[in-house]
Amino acid sequence: MTASRATRVVVVLGGVLTVCAAACTPAPAAPAAAPTGEPSPAAVLSPLAVFPLAEVAPVLGADNRMHLAYELAMANQSSQDVLLRSVTTLDATRADAVVTTLDGDALARMFRPSGDSAGATLRPGEYGTLFLDATTAPDAPLPGLLRHRFALGLQPAQAPEDIGPRDTDPPPPPPQNIEFTGVPVPVTAQPAVTLSPPLRGPRWVAGSGCCDTITAHRGATLAIDGTVHVPERFAIDFVQLDDTDRLYSGPPTDNASFRYFGTAVLSVADGTVVTVVDGMPEQTPGRLPAGITITTAGGNHVVVDIGGGRYAFYAHLQPGSPRVRAGDRVRAGDVIGLLGNTGNTDAPHLHFHVMDGPSPLQSNGLPFVFTAFTGQGVVTDEATLADTTKPDAAIAPIDRGLLSGPHRAQLPLNLQIVDFG
Ligand SMILES: [Zn+2]
Repeated sequence: MTASRATRVVVVLGGVLTVCAAACTPAPAAPAAAPTGEPSPAAVLSPLAVFPLAEVAPVLGADNRMHLAYELAMANQSSQDVLLRSVTTLDATRADAVVTTLDGDALARMFRPSGDSAGATLRPGEYGTLFLDATTAPDAPLPGLLRHRFALGLQPAQAPEDIGPRDTDPPPPPPQNIEFTGVPVPVTAQPAVTLSPPLRGPRWVAGSGCCDTITAHRGATLAIDGTVHVPERFAIDFVQLDDTDRLYSGPPTDNASFRYFGTAVLSVADGTVVTVVDGMPEQTPGRLPAGITITTAGGNHVVVDIGGGRYAFYAHLQPGSPRVRAGDRVRAGDVIGLLGNTGNTDAPHLHFHVMDGPSPLQSNGLPFVFTAFTGQGVVTDEATLADTTKPDAAIAPIDRGLLSGPHRAQLPLNLQIVDFG
């Protein structure tokens, strides 16, 4: 969202700050020459400190778009409230060509403040994370480096109890606008790894999948020993609909009511088993267990080094089911274990992701694509899948036209229904 005011003023905010309406001329790209020791004439003292959480790793999604899914953490260092008006992703390797702009409701939907600020606002000292999903055509040249243009509104800080309309209060002054461009984020040239599917059969739902929603996976920005990790950026929780499009039939507190409980989980690639954890009991479906830690969250699980600095993680397996031991060599298609409901889970499912280290959570999530699958539509209401209160599950609402048909070397997207092999 932009304002039409085009004046430029200068205010003091812990220093000199160039303030302008969002419609003022965008700052020119930083010179490509080596730094001279002086700030660029376009440099702006900004109220936000912005921290990219990882380099960007592109992946071709099942919508045939290249997705650049990444995160910008940010802290409001000023004494004013900061409203994020827009964030524009620029291709710094092509004269700051615009890749995409996030603003308005779409921006607010992808922004998560650490406190209770409404929308895309950060109060003084507050921290937040913006989850981006810039997409490009599959044949477009990929940026090697991104930069970002921020358009912000600044307002005198309001106490939390003063936020919201109150007839007796004088209206707050209109926000002043500020723009700045910076925050380089490298884009890896390494393509997403191609994997064979971890399951066989029809109607697997890619739960909590990538990329345009802050799902439980994408939103898992975990500070571990003080360093923020996003291990589940591309993770998928696989559940299977039956031939009546229900998740389960029978008592919802019985794992056996979920007919896919016990399905063989298959190795997605050749590799060497790094970790096998077994012995944790099945959970009761319908509620998340208490007392879960970062070491028990994955339940019974297997980690396989699949080469190239990548590790495959298979979580929530049935107790006693892992068929491999640490050090074993596995081939794509080998049975790893059986789909279960152990660890931090409220229904049987396979949690699968690829990461850049052997620790399932103390790592960075990397993208992957599956060799082949067939789309059968998209579940349009996730709440239907999450509702495990009825004796038989409700029929999942499905838009059968979305992302349907054959896919090759693509990542299933959030709530897509896929047939594997
Ligand atoms: Zn999961």
